[in-house]
Amino acid sequence: MKNIFNETLESLENTLVESGFKAFSARQIFDWMYKKDIRDFYEMTNISKDLRAFLSSHYTFGNIDIFTKQYSSDGTRKYLFKLSDGHLIESVLMAHDYGKSLCITTQVGCNIGCSFCASGLLKKIRNLSVAEMVMQVLEVQKEAKVRVSHVVIMGTGEPFDNYDNVMKFIDVINSPYALEIGARHITISTSGIVPKIVQFSEESKQVNLAISLHAPTNELRSKLMKINDVYPLEALMKSVKQYVAKTNRRVTFEYILLQDINDSIEYADALSDLLRGLNCYVNLIRYNAVDEFSYEPTEEDSANRFYQRLLKRGIQATLRREMGADIDAACGQLRTKKTI
Ligand code: SF4
Repeated sequence: MKNIFNETLESLENTLVESGFKAFSARQIFDWMYKKDIRDFYEMTNISKDLRAFLSSHYTFGNIDIFTKQYSSDGTRKYLFKLSDGHLIESVLMAHDYGKSLCITTQVGCNIGCSFCASGLLKKIRNLSVAEMVMQVLEVQKEAKVRVSHVVIMGTGEPFDNYDNVMKFIDVINSPYALEIGARHITISTSGIVPKIVQFSEESKQVNLAISLHAPTNELRSKLMKINDVYPLEALMKSVKQYVAKTNRRVTFEYILLQDINDSIEYADALSDLLRGLNCYVNLIRYNAVDEFSYEPTEEDSANRFYQRLLKRGIQATLRREMGADIDAACGQLRTKKTI
């Protein structure tokens, strides 16, 4: 039996038609699942009895359970979910003045192994299914009694290493018949898997793309992110330029400021040289300390100097307010400490 939350509207329509039912019933089914929160096919009273029986014999609603939750003083909530096979994953809900944003996880563990990131301490065990990603949104909405207005695909895992499921997940949360989260309110973040950036530029999705850059030279980036040995800056920037040319969309570069590692004025200059002329902005994030690593966060003054230098050299940038650091929910801090 399949979990019905794995279905996009289109795949459900196809299944229904192949099985002798009408395609439009998929919209009715989505309406029950996503708008009315019904978890029993026999309660879907506007679809035929035959279809209800078909659905019951082919699909389950599956579930992921909230194992623990932590609330930060700044309103951030971190959820540890237990999957049906016992693996644990995390999601983080952040309250912004523009809405509620959920950072979701795409894999159990991560193979990219960025040297500053706690999430990569657990090697990848498996990809999450579409349903396991969709249910992170549904369960958080239910627990926090909020509507998630923004989704950032930046939790544990490299989303482009689970490409097909992540694309379907985006289709589901963006669908007007499901969660209706606007494409421009969805951001996917990659460590820089070049062929997938090229593939992504061919998708007709209006979602935001963020690149975890963290260093403007190959020498430093390879020290921080092993992926740079496979896809060095020249290849990465070429693919990003292709993406911008193809989609006409602005790209975000994430840059975690690590004290005395990548936060000098020289690196700010190298970064602005690297990005000059590209439709982009830089999201500067002061590092959040992780027990296992010796990196320190850049002092506030130095972070400001770096930020001002980018602005002065014509690069749009923000110095982000970190959220949830007191519950280890900030960028790079997600990790499943608990095992069961
Ligand atoms: S930063 Fe992202 S890609 Fe890098 S190890 Fe952490 S989860 Fe994986």
